[in-house]
Amino acid sequence: TNRTFTMIKPDGVENGHIGGILNMITEGGFRIVAMKLTQLTVADAKAFYAVHAERPFYGELVEFMTRGPIVAAILEKENAVEDFRTLIGATNPANAAEGTIRKKYATSMGENAVHGSDSDENAAIESAFHFAGREMF
Ligand code: ATP
Repeated sequence: TNRTFTMIKPDGVENGHIGGILNMITEGGFRIVAMKLTQLTVADAKAFYAVHAERPFYGELVEFMTRGPIVAAILEKENAVEDFRTLIGATNPANAAEGTIRKKYATSMGENAVHGSDSDENAAIESAFHFAGREMF
């Protein structure tokens, strides 16, 4: 529907791209509903990426996602989930379209700067995990 959840991943924060990424998000027509600097625990990251538990890169992914702070945010726009997936671009930056966040800021398949929810259902689950109702505007 009209909301999605995003994280600026540890690489995006480490590399000084919080401002640049937020600028692309707002220029892309998304309104920031909630936002915070936080850090995933190992348990959080394992649960968040449980769908990939059997994949060879799972351990590396959990280590990466927990190694430093992230920016968690809820974004609002018509058709938010799909339009935000378009704005971030392909998982592998080599395949990311010109003008996408990953084209500009991702460094590899693993360290790809941003997350965007893949469904309305997951957007709601991920948003509720990070934010209380009174933190959403
Ligand atoms: P995200 O869920 O983080 O928004 P995505 O939906 O584009 O990313 P998924 O296929 O759900 O991609 O993979 C989740 C994350 O796992 C990727 O963003 C990436 O960081 C990591 N990942 C996926 N495939 C690989 C791989 N082959 N090697 C290393 N890391 C990978």
